Amino acid sequence: MIPDFIPATVPNWINGEQVKALSSEAFDKLSPHSGGKLYRVSRSGEDDVELAIQVAVGAQTGWAALTPVQRGEVLHDIAQLMRRYRQDIAAVVALETGMSFGAAMGETGAAIAQGEFMAGEGRRFYGRTTTSATPYKYASTVRQPMGVAGLIIAANTPIANVAWKVFPALICGNAAILKAAEDTPATAWLFGRIAHEAGLPRGVLNIIQGHGEEAGAPLVANAGVDVVSFTGSTAVGRLVAAKAGARLAKVSLELGGKNPLVVCDDADLDNAVTWTLLAAFSNAGQRCAAASRIIVFEAVYDQFRDRLVERTGGLSIGPDDADDLGPVINEKQLNNMLAAIEKAKEAGASVTIGGHRLDDEAHAPGFYMAPTIIENAHPRDEISVTELFGPITCLYRVRDFAEALHMANASPYGLTAAIHTRSIHRATEFAQKVQAGVAVVNGGTHGSEPHMPFGGLKQSGNGSREPGTEALDVYSELKDIYINSDPGLL
Ligand code: NAD
Repeated sequence: MIPDFIPATVPNWINGEQVKALSSEAFDKLSPHSGGKLYRVSRSGEDDVELAIQVAVGAQTGWAALTPVQRGEVLHDIAQLMRRYRQDIAAVVALETGMSFGAAMGETGAAIAQGEFMAGEGRRFYGRTTTSATPYKYASTVRQPMGVAGLIIAANTPIANVAWKVFPALICGNAAILKAAEDTPATAWLFGRIAHEAGLPRGVLNIIQGHGEEAGAPLVANAGVDVVSFTGSTAVGRLVAAKAGARLAKVSLELGGKNPLVVCDDADLDNAVTWTLLAAFSNAGQRCAAASRIIVFEAVYDQFRDRLVERTGGLSIGPDDADDLGPVINEKQLNNMLAAIEKAKEAGASVTIGGHRLDDEAHAPGFYMAPTIIENAHPRDEISVTELFGPITCLYRVRDFAEALHMANASPYGLTAAIHTRSIHRATEFAQKVQAGVAVVNGGTHGSEPHMPFGGLKQSGNGSREPGTEALDVYSELKDIYINSDPGLL
């Protein structure tokens, strides 16, 4: 059921007002579960973006004039109101993504926690005081706003993605323009409504709906945007980096992953299977941190594979709380995955379970992909080095720890990684040597927390970390302040 508070055409938020795209054009948002139309979405373009930037520039000065503590109080109010509207937010997230209401409630809770954490940063907002080589000279640093932040997000965990960017951008004293993901427009729109109801001054947060090339690219290109923060695919991240780089704008890129989960011969196999299922298939595998390369010691490979396949076969697929995973976000994404599996088979890989769209009566109208396990793919095959962003994972056989670590690192990506072992020696060595922004022992490849920095190496990003206090580095400039006193004037 579509909540009646969602407008028939999801609008932009510009200067605290809900407005349609200047062109009056719109596109359909489809339900991942039923394939049917949910509502229309404003199809914004360069003119809408330009307007939003002008408004943001105008609003930023007043927002930056508040102390970080005062800004934190506003963010705190937004987070509190999100708590009051938590069920509404979760209903919209579930509707737009096809994830269960329970999963959406969990994600909304994480977004609120992000807001609360960043609100508290208003009372810290630390700079540094340090020493000077010169007597009677005092050195310190302070954080200052960048100006206008352009925020572009993916649809996979929509309210968390909004919170990860908007709260740190605002606490630092920036005004922001959020380009919503086209597949989750109403989640971003609802956040805008809550933020304004909570008392965020007009124009401090503007939300633009629309397609990437039409509404995202102009945001990246515009000289009025001082920092661009992008969460999405590596392919688009490259375009964003090139465009923003050409005008020397600061850019933070949170991109894709092809994350390894290593299962050693001394692992608790049941625990390893449980975490593999969650890391590979929860949220229908639509996580940058999904485990898509399962690297298993030869000695336990068959045993692990058999248990994993059996439990994968028992997963329940649908939009309800009792289900383990839902649909993928749209049909294009589903077809990309099916094509990738066909190519992998042609290259010699075999599909152990899944590998197809669910075509029974309950699932056929929606965008449901069967949870899929692939074996016998070469580590250098396309399927081993390409992020699929769906419920598909590959199994690889290795002799020992050294080969497992080598294979884990032989990837163009470096976002997250996990190892299952009872050995402190293997756990420590893996955590130290794996080329990833996150290393997990005896857990999933996902599960980052709001107060911790998240980000990846290699093609998973460009070195920045969000959220955690490290997100403040993305959205603020450091200024050195030197104060000289004159002892002769005492
Ligand atoms: P995508 O790159 O296609 O789109 C992401 C966003 O970029 C959307 O809002 C889209 O409209 C916009 N966009 C598209 N083309 C653009 C352009 N030319 N200029 C500016 N903006 C443009 O990604 P997706 O398929 O929607 O999302 C999945 C990807 O996001 C995966 O690769 C996943 O790993 C990644 N992701 C990364 C993280 C992380 O923190 N590292 C978190 C979530 C998702």
